[in-house]
Amino acid sequence: MANVLKVTNPATGELIQEVRINSEEEINQALKNGHEAFNKWRKVNAHERSRLLQKWSGIVQDHKEEIAKIMTLENGKPLAESRGEVDYATSYIDWYAEEAKRTYGRTIPANTESKRIIISRQPVGLVAAITPWNFPAAMMTRKAAPALAAGCTFIVKPAVETPLTTMRLVELAYEAGIPKDVLQYVNARGSVIGDIFTKSEYVRKISFTGSTPIGKQLIKNSADTVKHVTMELGGHAPLIVAEDADLDFAVQQTILTKYRNAGQTCVCANRIIVHENIVDSFSEKLAEAVKKLKVGNGLEPDTQVGPIINEKGYEKVAAQIQDAIDKGAEVLAGNQFNVNKEQGYFFVYPTVLKNVSTDADIMQEETFGPVAPIVSFKTLEEAVEIANSTPYGLAAYFFTNDYRTGTYFHDHLDFGIIGWNDGGPSGAHVPFGGMKESGLGREGSIEGIEPYLETKYLSIGNL
Ligand code: NAP
Repeated sequence: MANVLKVTNPATGELIQEVRINSEEEINQALKNGHEAFNKWRKVNAHERSRLLQKWSGIVQDHKEEIAKIMTLENGKPLAESRGEVDYATSYIDWYAEEAKRTYGRTIPANTESKRIIISRQPVGLVAAITPWNFPAAMMTRKAAPALAAGCTFIVKPAVETPLTTMRLVELAYEAGIPKDVLQYVNARGSVIGDIFTKSEYVRKISFTGSTPIGKQLIKNSADTVKHVTMELGGHAPLIVAEDADLDFAVQQTILTKYRNAGQTCVCANRIIVHENIVDSFSEKLAEAVKKLKVGNGLEPDTQVGPIINEKGYEKVAAQIQDAIDKGAEVLAGNQFNVNKEQGYFFVYPTVLKNVSTDADIMQEETFGPVAPIVSFKTLEEAVEIANSTPYGLAAYFFTNDYRTGTYFHDHLDFGIIGWNDGGPSGAHVPFGGMKESGLGREGSIEGIEPYLETKYLSIGNL
């Protein structure tokens, strides 16, 4: 078997590029190089690290169109979304270029006159990251930028479906002057590389974005060498529409969160929970709007919904739709497909399902497809109970103009990210991450650099 990954366009099945798979020896050498580079990079002063990150950000922006096109080709998302992701990815580099200068320590008053106490922060060491295919640029920069800002060196393994965006971003970092061994990528199957990363004595931290089962495995495997871990894992977001909500706004925001990236987003609304008195009108409005979404190749300028990433992803989405229908759901839109298994493309038309049983698979598991299952609720307590009845705790949304209802939802929903009348709460300036089995740690904002820093306490005595 050829030692290459075949990167294909999910909208057509066509081969885009072959990428060489790194051998175990090469990966271990890259880890050794990253470890050795750490001792130099940590000594580069924070203002210089900041300057290099700013330069990288500028060069990425100069190549925005090129990177957006690569992303659409390998991931399938509409070009407008890819452009948005380049901006989003760059915003993390910008944010952490600033935070590099703010990894403050502190002094603590001592309990005797003869002592002084100083607390300082230092980088954890070499960070090994594993990223998914759904946001190939942003999932990389929101790890790499805080790591480099903190003084860590960084190595990333992108998903086999979408290595090209990451590879280009790393090349552009070299153009900016970031040293080669400070930021590296390697390509291999995750099942192979996960073991190499977690066993390596050089790696001090694993930063992973991907599915919950793989995240659990990486946490277990990191235990032997007691590595730091950051885990951004799966979601199963509820979106609650209260009786008093502005329905047109709620519909528009539901479309924003649900159908972006063809529903292949960890924070996308997965369960639509609507008050029984408005469920008919909300469902009709949503279905009407969804039927107008244009499905197609992301390179066509009017495309709003691209393909599902691969056959496995399509099989899961199609099976969840059928299971919901078998358990009594009514199809208001979609349940249509444009699939060619030989050629290798899989389009699912935006789907709205009403009267979905809470026992249906789609209400229990992450979908990763453009399907909105709607259930109704009577009381706020019931809405919260449905919303929290999952091991996941990444994102939740609710729509209400009543401050008491909103405060109740905020206080009772067990999710790390909450949008109140807001279907798009992400950003480099806010802490992104999940509770329960959705993860450990946060990315973005001031919290996002913390996992790349150790605390060191110095006690000076005999003064
Ligand atoms: P996945 O199967 O877990 O893959 C993600 C990454 O993990 C890929 O690079 C993959 O490599 C690698 N991987 C696979 N098996 C591995 C192993 N045994 N050890 C180490 N790495 C391994 O996830 P996915 O289905 O592609 O991605 C979607 C998932 O990511 C969803 O669950 C989504 O919710 C989650 N996600 C979470 C966030 C967040 O911030 N919380 C953001 C985006 C996505 P290969 O390419 O070789 O398979």
